[in-house]
Amino acid sequence: MAKISLTFPDQSQHEFDAGVTTLAVAKSIASSLAKKAVAGNLNGTLVDLDQPLNQDGDLQIITNADPEGVLVLRDTAAFVLGAALKQLHPDLHFGEHKADDDGFYLDTDRADGQVAVSELPDIKKAMQKIISANQPVERKVVDKTDLLKEFADDPYQTLLLNAMDAVQVHVYQLGDYTSFGSRALLKSLAPLKHLELLSVAGAYWQGKSSNPMLQRIYGTAFFKADELAADLKRRAEIKERDHRTIGRDLDIFFVDPEVGAGLPYWMPNGATIRRVIERYIIDKEVADGYEHVYTPVLANLNLYKTSGHWAHYREDMFPPMDMGDGEFLELRPMNCPSHIQIYNHHNRSYRELPVRIAELGMMHRYEKSGALSGLQRVREMTLNDGHTFLAPEQIQSEFKRVLRLMMDVYDDFNITDYTFRLSYRDPANTEKYFDDDEMWNKSQAMLKGAMDDLGLDYYEAEGEAAFYGPKLDVQTKTALGNDETMSTIQLDFMMPEKFQLTYVGADGKDHRPVMMHRGIVGTMERFIAYLMEIYKGAFPTWLAPVQVEIIPVNLDLHTEYAQQLQKQLASQGIRVKVDLRNEKMGYKIREAQTQKVPYTLVVGDEELRDQTVSVRRYGEKDANDEAIKLFTDMILDDIHNYSRT
Ligand code: ATP
Ligand code: ZN
Repeated sequence: MAKISLTFPDQSQHEFDAGVTTLAVAKSIASSLAKKAVAGNLNGTLVDLDQPLNQDGDLQIITNADPEGVLVLRDTAAFVLGAALKQLHPDLHFGEHKADDDGFYLDTDRADGQVAVSELPDIKKAMQKIISANQPVERKVVDKTDLLKEFADDPYQTLLLNAMDAVQVHVYQLGDYTSFGSRALLKSLAPLKHLELLSVAGAYWQGKSSNPMLQRIYGTAFFKADELAADLKRRAEIKERDHRTIGRDLDIFFVDPEVGAGLPYWMPNGATIRRVIERYIIDKEVADGYEHVYTPVLANLNLYKTSGHWAHYREDMFPPMDMGDGEFLELRPMNCPSHIQIYNHHNRSYRELPVRIAELGMMHRYEKSGALSGLQRVREMTLNDGHTFLAPEQIQSEFKRVLRLMMDVYDDFNITDYTFRLSYRDPANTEKYFDDDEMWNKSQAMLKGAMDDLGLDYYEAEGEAAFYGPKLDVQTKTALGNDETMSTIQLDFMMPEKFQLTYVGADGKDHRPVMMHRGIVGTMERFIAYLMEIYKGAFPTWLAPVQVEIIPVNLDLHTEYAQQLQKQLASQGIRVKVDLRNEKMGYKIREAQTQKVPYTLVVGDEELRDQTVSVRRYGEKDANDEAIKLFTDMILDDIHNYSRT
């Protein structure tokens, strides 16, 4: 009988009869290993436990303790999901499936309506039935031509098969369900005890937005019950913090792809939060020497040709509007060229510098539809933008000034989890950058010096600078764990060249200013998405859309007092609502908590008599009786001091 030689991970070599299976190899080592084994990895390819091995090579036995073993479990779960769906909906079409660190999914398509989330419990039951019956999954190698016949009425399986080079295909079969393209499946379905179907979502066939949309069914599976429980808990926490969930539950914003993907609508609650932040930031900036302006979102395309955006940023821009008379108008993707117009509108002297121009500037970027996400990534956004025009020797002091403003703002919003990243040009490839060695060396040293002077920790990223100058980014993390840039300070030596900007120096001659782009809170959209996540929707009083909810104990007896209180508080700028619905008081109190209103005031006989209010703070169980004046002072103090609660 022919022999094969297998090398184990410890580099020992062993001879086996050709056709031996991974399971038999595992048994030859130890029966305990055979029990834990779920697949083999032969020369980098996963193989089923009972697949005959006919070639020499490196064999690793994958067990249920290996990350790859978990993937085999999840691939098997996706297969059982397919088999269950085939039983429930024999005419369902199947797209791609995948198992990864996060779980598994299977794409499906049904002409008369997609699989709905409400069907998941029944689908899970059908899966569990298949698992407990534990019939063996048939594994075979079939001719692709035969398989194409079998899948003749499934367009996606046909496309997948046609894209494969192989003449023969390894398939798995259970009942009427046939599947291919899995890496390896479990020998027995029995270990598939701890699984969950999580959600459904539309997914374009092969990720392309020009393709039809299928329905993706997501799930996950683990070998151990406690691992599944921990994962489900983690998912619930993420969901609770996900700004899209909060945005819907608290009626903050919505996006309707039918009306325009990536174009958010701010509901009154969201608009209130945004208005408070906009006023706050404008006041802060004006106090710090910025001049706020308004500039148009539309400009002649030539402006973006001069700025270089048309040459280098076109992919992210909306196509120009042809006005029919030779004029082309463009929606701006950035505000810099607009602020340059403001600078350039007057002759500038060195005495005026730095000139700080700021705007809550609306801009449009054609982000890919697959990248759009709630308010985090949109196509129309308003940036807390500012451009400072300064003399080169002012770089360090201005940079420090922006940093101080930034940290002051972070402190007011109670943002503590962030890191600084200082980006330089690549010293080995200086020719890739704007050509002015002295400017680069000096300015990089100035930025670093400023960070050191202020005692801030930072990460230095060589080669990460923009073509036009070094920058500092402030990085934060989203609920889903993605890194994102919140604030940025960027030096720019190039734009002043392109627009031939000048100021008259002390010597009476023209000089070229340096430009500093900076965003403190970034775009309103991304910033508010971030705040929803860090606060879990419980905005501190100064930002909360409704700051006080008044609940009369008895609508007949206490409405008048409640309304009088409302008037009194509202006259001091406090946002107050009275709940006059015909519901039980307990229900109203619970609902004020669900809506995360910072203060709930209950008013009944006693309060009316004593001219007090019964105050309950968000998240607290107990209520305290307070005199109206005391309560008013307390909440005004919260608001004016940007208090954390
Ligand atoms: P990203 O890498 O996230 O696409 P960017 O580097 O293109 O951002 P800038 O051009 O520096 O971003 O824009 C300034 C700020 O605008 C960013 O810090 C971010 O807060 C915000 N921003 C950028 N793109 C979007 C978007 N599509 N939706 C919401 N906010 C955005
Ligand atoms: Zn800019």
